[in-house]
Amino acid sequence: MSVERYSHLKANDPEVYELIQSQAKMERTTLKMIASESYASFDVLEACGSVFTNKYAEGYPGARYYEGNEFADALENLAIARGKELFGCEHMNVQPYSGSPANSAVYRALLNNGDKIMGVPVSDGGHLTHGWKVSFSGKDYVQIPYRPNQETGRLDMAEVRQIALNERPKMIWVGMSAYPFKLDYAAFAEIAEEVGAYLVADIAHINALIIAGVHPDPVPYCDVVTSTAHKMLRGPRAGFIMSKLEDRYHEKYHPESKWNLAQLIDRAVFPTLQGGPHLHAIAGMATAFKYAQTAEFKAYGAQIVKNAQALCAELEALGRPIAGGGTETHLFLLDFRKEDFTGKDASQALAKCGIIANFNMVPGDTRSPFKTSGVRLGTAALTSAGMKEADMKQVAAWIDRVCRNINDIDSVAPTIRAEIAEFCGKFTFPGITE
Ligand SMILES: *Cc1c(COP(=O)(O)O)cnc(C)c1O
Repeated sequence: MSVERYSHLKANDPEVYELIQSQAKMERTTLKMIASESYASFDVLEACGSVFTNKYAEGYPGARYYEGNEFADALENLAIARGKELFGCEHMNVQPYSGSPANSAVYRALLNNGDKIMGVPVSDGGHLTHGWKVSFSGKDYVQIPYRPNQETGRLDMAEVRQIALNERPKMIWVGMSAYPFKLDYAAFAEIAEEVGAYLVADIAHINALIIAGVHPDPVPYCDVVTSTAHKMLRGPRAGFIMSKLEDRYHEKYHPESKWNLAQLIDRAVFPTLQGGPHLHAIAGMATAFKYAQTAEFKAYGAQIVKNAQALCAELEALGRPIAGGGTETHLFLLDFRKEDFTGKDASQALAKCGIIANFNMVPGDTRSPFKTSGVRLGTAALTSAGMKEADMKQVAAWIDRVCRNINDIDSVAPTIRAEIAEFCGKFTFPGITE
């Protein structure tokens, strides 16, 4: 990290400066394998650290509640234009503060409290905002759960259809935080049509795979698609919402409304849920969208999956079972159901050795959500640093070594940590060393 970049902070607030330096050092000397993380470029970091943080711009381009927004309008329009081109959607809103606020706007736009929604429970790989009990989405709406098959780890679309037919939800959420297989949006769309439900895809985890063309594209099939701009898209911490213009259930669910689908979404984001947009984050999003249109980014998206598959194959060859037997995405779950140690034991041991991941339930897990029998591993961050299939062999060997030495981890951790730090020195870390 170049010193002049943070020279003001270094001089005036050395405490915060030091914490940033420490975080940067950790991020370039350890293996970042949390499936929802990657590296934002210097371009994105600079855009996010700009004077746009100063500006109030409540409203939308051309219709603001504050003066002095000509550049804010141009910026937001630029982000929207780039985003629409990137994803080929009819409408985009770039104001949500993050992924969860984006999802809450979709609920507020289209449903009433007490309505039934279908979503995957967090314990089965879904997200909090898809109707989990402790989230607003589980408190204000009624979650009808559907889950991957406990044996195969895959969604069974015949079962999803049967649940939808029995329960008649008003909205179906599709998109997960810990699911290693491709999602069949066409099959979901048929089910949603059959039961008269809105279909919402949440692509927070997999947007780069969709852009790269290595995962099916939900945009043609869904009423609404939500996403984060961070995670594998490598933009700012922010969210965005894509939608069709027309509300196909206008007569059925919103006969009194004068708004189309796009307008319902926009009004839910502002003024229902949010005040002024985070223009500095929107600047970062515009920059991230520009980069995501490049061939280099598409190669990154495709490489993420190749790396995940290579890593899975190596780990299986070392005798480490993978939940569901493999991956078609950026992530997979190591399955420790047969081991004496838990997912939490493993994730803590891995972290001591410089492999940063998280413990996670696996299909058919009998341990508690606070211990679990799995560790979720993702390859987006390693791929942004330039790692390829051959490097995954090395990464698998370290993971296996940690598992084999888990009862005596403190004696091996310093060696493994040093080996990993040295290995990381061969790569370039966007936003840190490049
Ligand atoms: C991460 C994630 C979100 C929300 O993200 P935040 O920005 O943390 O609020 C939403 N949906 C899915 C599937 C996610 O994985």
